[in-house]
Amino acid sequence: MFPKGFFANVDAVLMETIHIVGAGMAGLSCAIQCAKEGKSVTLYEASPQAGGRCRSFMDESLGCIIDNGSHMLMSSNIATKTYLEEIGSIALVTETIPAKFPFLNPKTGTLWKIEPGFPYPTLWLMNPGRRVPETNPISYLKGIRLSKAKADETVKDVIGKDDPLYETFWQPICRATLNTDADDASALLLWGVVKSFFLQGEKSCRPINFERGLSAALVDPALKYLRTRNADIRYQDRIRDLTWKDNLLTGVRSLEGLHQFDKNDALVLAIPPDICSGIWPNIVSPSKTSPIINVHFRVNEPISLPGGLPFLGLIGTNSQWIFSRAEILSVTISAASKFVDSPSWELARDLWSEILPILGHDLARLPPWRVIKERRATISQTPENLQKRPGARTNLKNLFIAGDWTDTGLPATIEGSIQSGFRAARLALEYTSSNS
Ligand SMILES: Cc1cc2nc3c(=O)[nH]c(=O)nc-3n(C[C@H](O)[C@H](O)[C@H](O)COP(=O)(O)OP(=O)(O)OC[C@H]3O[C@@H](n4cnc5c(N)ncnc54)[C@H](O)[C@@H]3O)c2cc1C
Repeated sequence: MFPKGFFANVDAVLMETIHIVGAGMAGLSCAIQCAKEGKSVTLYEASPQAGGRCRSFMDESLGCIIDNGSHMLMSSNIATKTYLEEIGSIALVTETIPAKFPFLNPKTGTLWKIEPGFPYPTLWLMNPGRRVPETNPISYLKGIRLSKAKADETVKDVIGKDDPLYETFWQPICRATLNTDADDASALLLWGVVKSFFLQGEKSCRPINFERGLSAALVDPALKYLRTRNADIRYQDRIRDLTWKDNLLTGVRSLEGLHQFDKNDALVLAIPPDICSGIWPNIVSPSKTSPIINVHFRVNEPISLPGGLPFLGLIGTNSQWIFSRAEILSVTISAASKFVDSPSWELARDLWSEILPILGHDLARLPPWRVIKERRATISQTPENLQKRPGARTNLKNLFIAGDWTDTGLPATIEGSIQSGFRAARLALEYTSSNS
């Protein structure tokens, strides 16, 4: 559960409104906490649907609902679990027990699994069947050096590109958790990942999948929760700028006109960094982003992947992960700048021929496909960019910032955005309560 007492000093008082801009994970989690405390909530969302970078939609060409991109959680993502429990959808995600990550090198045909954390945090490394084949358990301990990294050092600086585990272990972890190549990724941020997964024991390392899709678990139940608590959710209401006097925000302006605030109201901006600094230029924000590409293939029947789980990591290919969910087989490329300008048909064709030999099915013809290029999937998690992450407070007493890109100490992930949403909710609730 989320730490006890996190919201303890906050009185539930009706009347004041907490305005939240952006209905992604940060905005929704913020709205949930404010509504739970009995506040009046108004949520402004620019697009026609909620979920932001984490959503499902009906794809007419494939004839089914797909996610904008395959997402995975970790069992150590405590704020996300709290959120799922609060909105009643924890049963809609699937935790793999015991923790296990299958990998395949299609060029050599070698299949292995990383099975971390059981019975003791690092003892699993002693079992050759639970680490990368033909590697020495001692080599993994080099990861401890990440803890001593300087703020400006990358994973490459600390681990070294010639390390035997660089391409088979550190690189896939960097791309999957930081959406940044190990050459550029912040060593300190990766240390946070290593510490919270691998050093905490098996219970913290379990992968969690969205077998029924992202919106079914993360978005739709949240909207239902908010509606039953009378939250005012305004779609296609893009906030353009803010009005303020002295150190107090006085309103927000959208195409619909000016929404004037009461002096006890608070506002949380839960929008991406470039849009946020356009609306509120007084903050410094990370400017570099990193793309993720997902190619969804519509197959005739569910396909079992080597390794026996609904996901498989690939080494030595452009395809990095395959996810199998019902009749959809999805291939993910993170840190995908090299591929993002390739034509979609070329990506679909090339990735399909790359994974075809792995599937062991008679599927030679390219099935119907959909390529989704999320060009600004996350901020690029380099040392320079991370130094520009702002905190939640601003120099206006009733204006707060949330989002996966803010300074949470975590990678830009669902967990980071939900923690930032909870933090902004606590600050907004404190402000409104102290003024009532
Ligand atoms: C393809 C892909 C794969 C990913 N995989 C993973 C994964 O496996 N695990 C993981 O934990 N994370 C993953 N992530 C990251 C995760 O999706 C994000 O960290 C998270 O969704 C960010 O949420 P957010 O609320 O901070 O921002 P957003 O989702 O960007 O939400 C911002 C919202 O604000 C709205 N908005 C913008 N401007 C305005 C305005 N002016 N007025 C009103 N509304 C506005 C937007 O429409 C949007 O709905 C992935 C991301 C992508 C794209």
